Amino acid sequence: MRICVLAGGVGGARFLLGARRLLGLDDPAARDGSPNRIDAVVNVGDDAWMHGVRICPDLDTCMYTLGGGIDPERGWGHAGETWNCKAELAEYGVQPDWFGLGDKDLATHLVRTQMLGAGFRLTDVTEALCVRWSPGVRLLPVTDDRCETHVVLAETGDETGGRAIHFQEWWVRHRAALPATAFVQIGAEQAEPTPETLEAIAEADLVVVAPSNPVVSTGAILAVPGIRAALRATSAPVVGVSPVIDGAVLRGMADACLSAIGVETSALAVARHYGARSGTGLLDGWLVAPGDGPARGDARVDGIAVREAPLLMTDPDATAAMVAAAIDLAGLEVPGGAR
Ligand code: GDP
Ligand code: CA
Repeated sequence: MRICVLAGGVGGARFLLGARRLLGLDDPAARDGSPNRIDAVVNVGDDAWMHGVRICPDLDTCMYTLGGGIDPERGWGHAGETWNCKAELAEYGVQPDWFGLGDKDLATHLVRTQMLGAGFRLTDVTEALCVRWSPGVRLLPVTDDRCETHVVLAETGDETGGRAIHFQEWWVRHRAALPATAFVQIGAEQAEPTPETLEAIAEADLVVVAPSNPVVSTGAILAVPGIRAALRATSAPVVGVSPVIDGAVLRGMADACLSAIGVETSALAVARHYGARSGTGLLDGWLVAPGDGPARGDARVDGIAVREAPLLMTDPDATAAMVAAAIDLAGLEVPGGAR
C-alpha cells in the first residue's frame, strides 16, 4: 500500500509515526523489501530566512521526529539542544531575537543553506539531510519555490494595523495574539508543486490529510497552484483526520488561525472548510473524535463520509489505529500482518 500524507509540523509528524508503525516501516531493515510506502507532502509556508540561513520548521519537525532526534517536551527542535549561538547573537543585538535557533538545529540549517546555494532543489536537500535521519518516510516539500505564509493584521488604528508580517513573527514572536484577518502565501502565484509531490498524490492508493493546522499547514500546502487539482484528480480516496477534538485544538494556537478566517473551531466546520470531493472540495472521508460526529454513527456531512474514531496521538500504536481507521473509512483493506 502506498499512502500519501499531507503534513505540517508536530501534528503531521506524529501522524506519520503512526502510519510508519502500521505499515511495518519502523525497522530500517524491513523497509527495502516492503510493498508499503509512505510519501509525506510537507508544508513549506513556515519557511524563512533568518541570520542568513534557510529554516524549514515543518520539514525539520517531521525529519527529527521520525529520525528519533526530536525534543519530546517541546515537540520541535533537537533533544539535548543548547542555545549558545542564540545568546551570542543577542549580545550583538541583532534581530530577530525571538526565534528559537538552537546550536544543533543550526547545523541542519547550515547544510541546507550551503546546498541551496550550490543550486540543489529543496527536495534534493531534504533527501540528503534524511540520509542521516533515515525517517522511513519520503519527506517531500510541496514546492521547491519560495511560498511563505504572511499574516494580514487587522486594522487597529496604530502602525501595525493592516500590515502583513511573516507567519513566524506572528506565531512565535506575538504568540498568535495580534488579531489577523487573512493568511497569504507570498510567492504562490509563481510557485509550482514538485514533480515528486504530484507523482506521490497521483500514484497513491490513499491520500490522508494529517491532523495538522487546517489554515497555515494544510491550507498553505493547498495554496500551491496545482495541488488542489491534483487532489481532485487522483484515483486515490482522500481522507482527512480532524485536528479539532471536542471544539478545541490540541497543544497550540491553531484556533487563532481558524477564527481569523471565520471558521468555527469544530471538527465538522473544518471538514466543511475543506469541502467534499463530490462537490468542489477535497475530502471523501473525515475522521472525527468520539462525540464529534453527527448524531447517528456513520453518516455523510455535506457529501463527506464522517466516522468517529479515537484521535489522540498518545503513542505510535494509538496513532497506527487511527491510520487504520482512515484506511477503513476509505473502503480499502488495512494491510495485513503489519500490526
Ligand atoms: P505545526 O506545524 O507544528 O503547528 O503542526 P501541525 O500543523 O502539523 O499540527 C498542529 C495541529 O495538530 C493542531 O491543530 C493540533 O490540534 C493537532 N494535534 C496535535 N496533537 C493532536 C492529537 O493528538 N490528535 C489530533 N487529532 N490532533 C492533534
Ligand atoms: Ca508549522
